[in-house]
Amino acid sequence: MPLVNSVGTCEECHKMFEFTLFHSGVTNSCYAYCEGCGTTAILDISDGRFPLELVKFSAYKVIAPDLERHLKPCACGARFTARAAPQCPHCRQVLSAAKAAQYVERSVAKGSPNWRWQMSWSGNYYIVIEGRQIRNNFK
Ligand SMILES: [Zn+2]
Ligand SMILES: [Zn+2]
Repeated sequence: MPLVNSVGTCEECHKMFEFTLFHSGVTNSCYAYCEGCGTTAILDISDGRFPLELVKFSAYKVIAPDLERHLKPCACGARFTARAAPQCPHCRQVLSAAKAAQYVERSVAKGSPNWRWQMSWSGNYYIVIEGRQIRNNFK
């Protein structure tokens, strides 16, 4: 279940985009972004292909770098990596995790006024932009 479905603004081109914020503990998963296009790969810990030795390094946050080689590349041809970040769907600018606090905290504020954004693309929360996601793309 999505935690929040809302709208953000690109700091570069100032256009708006839809995003959904998830908590990887609630969804029992970990995640990575595509280096080429910012698509979100969501990896279920319960998937039989998840390398067991990497679960404790990846669970409920961004993947451990060792998991990268177990993943199929994105449809755009680039890789999903532990250090990649989401991108603006209009101008392809990599979105700043710090500047995302503005639209993410504003979206969550109604339900949880004291909640604070993690200020990174590697914590428990991940976002999917304009529905661009892939699930369990293990090799
Ligand atoms: Zn943009
Ligand atoms: Zn891609």
